[in-house]
Amino acid sequence: MDFSQNVQRLQPSATIAVSSLAKQLKAEGRDIINLGAGEPDFDTPEWISDAGVAGIREGKTRYTPAPGTIQLRQAIAEDLQAQFGIDTDWNGVVVSNGAKHSLFNACFTLFGPGDEVLIGSPYWVSYPQIVSLSRAEPVFVAGSEEKDFLLTPEDLDAAYTERTKGLILCSPSNPSGGVYSFDELKAVAEWARDRGVWLIADEIYRYINFLGDGPSAGVLNLPAESLGDYVLVDGVSKAFAMTGWRIGFTYSSPDLAKKMSAFQSHTTSNPSSPAQEAALIAYTKREQSMAEVGKMVEAFRRRRDLVTRLFEELVPSLPYVKPNGAFYLFFRVDSLFREGMSDSSAICTWLLKEAEIAMVPGVAFGDDRYVRMSYATSDELIEEAIKRLGKAVDSLS
Ligand code: PMP
Ligand code: GLU
Repeated sequence: MDFSQNVQRLQPSATIAVSSLAKQLKAEGRDIINLGAGEPDFDTPEWISDAGVAGIREGKTRYTPAPGTIQLRQAIAEDLQAQFGIDTDWNGVVVSNGAKHSLFNACFTLFGPGDEVLIGSPYWVSYPQIVSLSRAEPVFVAGSEEKDFLLTPEDLDAAYTERTKGLILCSPSNPSGGVYSFDELKAVAEWARDRGVWLIADEIYRYINFLGDGPSAGVLNLPAESLGDYVLVDGVSKAFAMTGWRIGFTYSSPDLAKKMSAFQSHTTSNPSSPAQEAALIAYTKREQSMAEVGKMVEAFRRRRDLVTRLFEELVPSLPYVKPNGAFYLFFRVDSLFREGMSDSSAICTWLLKEAEIAMVPGVAFGDDRYVRMSYATSDELIEEAIKRLGKAVDSLS
């Protein structure tokens, strides 16, 4: 069939595909451990869900303004103000159907034919697709492995051309778990500022940070003079365990926010109105929300420690990037390559068949030497999965 040029390079999301396949195999009775899904295993806190239910019962079931209700936009702006100690303008907030949608709005509004957008590699699977859908060119910049793949101004200089219009930065990173320090982030932000490059900062995992206490450094922590044009992308999916509610947001200049709202008004109208009610409570009851976030982050930290300890014990031959945030372990499998199993997809297929563990091949994130494991699951399942992995790896030698 002759599809439009719009979707000529479009590939389905590998993260969603692996997770769906694992769910299907489980439903067929297979004892699959699903470490493919990149979503918290916790339920949405009950009082947040209750606000969504109350919203439905109270008739908050109609269209809202395209960028979200004024109350929610104000609550998000106030939350940013409280977090970062800066003045914010609620007109800069656009609420969308998940952070993925927010990224799409930003890229589609800012980039187009002839533009190049730098993407730190390994990257989250959807970035290049979103940039390509905007008809701009994704340009991958590989940070050095020794530095957990974090980008430096030198890495960026090597990829920069006169057509470079944007840079997508993810910290804490999906898939590597790498986290930029304040100084590292500042250096990259200033690099973008000096070249007039839009900085799209995906901070969806900011709370899930294991470097010290509290969230990782974000663009709004930087001195205003270090920042050029930027779009902050965040949302409720990861921090508040609300992946299915589909609420994300951007924070940018009100001018850009207006354009993105206009775009959204013709594509998806507004984000779901009951979900906005749930998100409103999450952002307004800040103390209560932070208590929930604290509990979840502690669980992720404990699991990070468990995963890395078990890896050292049971799979010592496979190196990994030290996960300092998010909930993924990105580990190298190229030492296992052999005839008939010579890339990360083949390794994942083999692990699914032989060990009944579902993980995402690194090729989906731009590095075919690696595999990504999500550890957003119970301690028991993590332990069982790494035992299975260790056994499978040992069987090859
Ligand atoms: N950015 C990153 C790095 C992610 O891992 C995800 C998870 N899907 C998203 C954005 C999108 O989040 P959401 O589910 O809110 O669309
Ligand atoms: N962000 C998650 C992941 O990387 C969820 C799936 C998706 O949206 O890609 O697995």
